[in-house]
Amino acid sequence: MSERALREEIVAVAQAIDRAGYCPSKSGNVSARLGDDLLITPSGLPYAQTTPEDLIHLSLDGRILSGVRKPSSEWPFHTAIYRARPDAQAIVHTHSPRATALSCARRGIPAFHYMIALCGGPDVRCADYATFGTPELAENAVQGLEGRKAVLLANHGVIALGASLAGAHQIVAEVENLAGQYLDLLAAGLDPVILDDGEMQRVAARFAGYGKVD
Ligand code: 13P
Ligand code: ZN
Repeated sequence: MSERALREEIVAVAQAIDRAGYCPSKSGNVSARLGDDLLITPSGLPYAQTTPEDLIHLSLDGRILSGVRKPSSEWPFHTAIYRARPDAQAIVHTHSPRATALSCARRGIPAFHYMIALCGGPDVRCADYATFGTPELAENAVQGLEGRKAVLLANHGVIALGASLAGAHQIVAEVENLAGQYLDLLAAGLDPVILDDGEMQRVAARFAGYGKVD
């Protein structure tokens, strides 16, 4: 894919998560690998106004290689995740409402539904709290993502990674869906039945041949 096409796809995903209501008050950010580096959305710029030229080209150690705007304040966790995870080609961060609500109780999402397997393992953890934009948050996010493609950030939101932008986008949407279902069950006073690890391994094996996971 050309750099131009990648820039357009990052903006398209950023605008799609915004339209879905996942980025209140211009929260969230999107990035993708570009060779040994990455392209990331600018800080604080409304997605509807963001163009492919507004993206910032960063090295994996956070140096600005090109771009006139300020990079997302969350560049520390984007770069830390790419350094730690060779499988991550793209990262999508949102403050999607239901998943963010759950993160404020510092609760992750257990395997109450088999689709949790899309997130890479038998649950989605909630990473420890740290202030946005800090190296501490980056460290907590990398830790919470170990063996997973998604993590909740305590009192903050969601991060999803994927082998493509489409994959990371799909996972961030599924996390929001699952968090909503889980909250609905809890609000109804019901006790979700959790699928055991053996079943989740069977689901993961079926997904591997299903074309669902990128
Ligand atoms: P930026 O606009 O700087 O990317 O920050 C949004 C956000 O979600 C911070 O966590
Ligand atoms: Zn955020």
